Amino acid sequence: MNGFKSFVDPTDLIIAEGLTGVVGPNGCGKSNLLEALRWVMGENRPTAMRGGGMEDVIFAGAASRNAKNFAEVCLTIDNSERLAPAGFNDLDQLEVVRRITRDVGSAYKANGKETRARDVQMLFADASTGSHSPALVRQGQISELISAKPKARRRILEEAAGISGLYQRRHEAELKLNNTEANLLRVDDVVEQLA
Ligand code: ATP
Repeated sequence: MNGFKSFVDPTDLIIAEGLTGVVGPNGCGKSNLLEALRWVMGENRPTAMRGGGMEDVIFAGAASRNAKNFAEVCLTIDNSERLAPAGFNDLDQLEVVRRITRDVGSAYKANGKETRARDVQMLFADASTGSHSPALVRQGQISELISAKPKARRRILEEAAGISGLYQRRHEAELKLNNTEANLLRVDDVVEQLA
């Protein structure tokens, strides 16, 4: 992380196998850390990042430090078993970088190549993880789960079964279908006018 929220200086974190708990005093940046992971995996809702706009993830300055002009998060994933999807599978490591620059916007790179947000989101969805993954447990989430409705609990099982990528594709296909139907109606109108 570099310039991301309270992580003004470059900060590395090794996430070991198994369960990782992040503990620390109030306001030390525990939630910011989880948000950095969500953000690099394609989170685009400012509300999910506890901000008003996407640029709010950039270090905004403090009493003794000026604001930064960009924020960057780089996620390096062990790919020695070559489990990454095609197109991202040519190296032993998969490195996904997201960077946002003030007044320019945000861009992604996967193993050094410019990549679209959608492809990064799909990459993580197909690997049964991503910005919505229940593997990232924020404060209060366990009690929310206990009182959750069955539909919300089903999403977690679906995530574990690795079918979230299919849901995203279905959603995109439905949007295309709706657009096509709207276009067909429009064509009918035009044909009627010409007749
Ligand atoms: P708690 O246990 O109270 O939930 P936490 O450890 O989860 O706290 P965070 O919410 O991750 O802490 O971090 C909050 C800190 O991050 C605050 O001090 C806030 O000022 C700082 N912060 C958030 N966004 C930015 C930003 N864009 N620039 C600078 N500092 C920021």
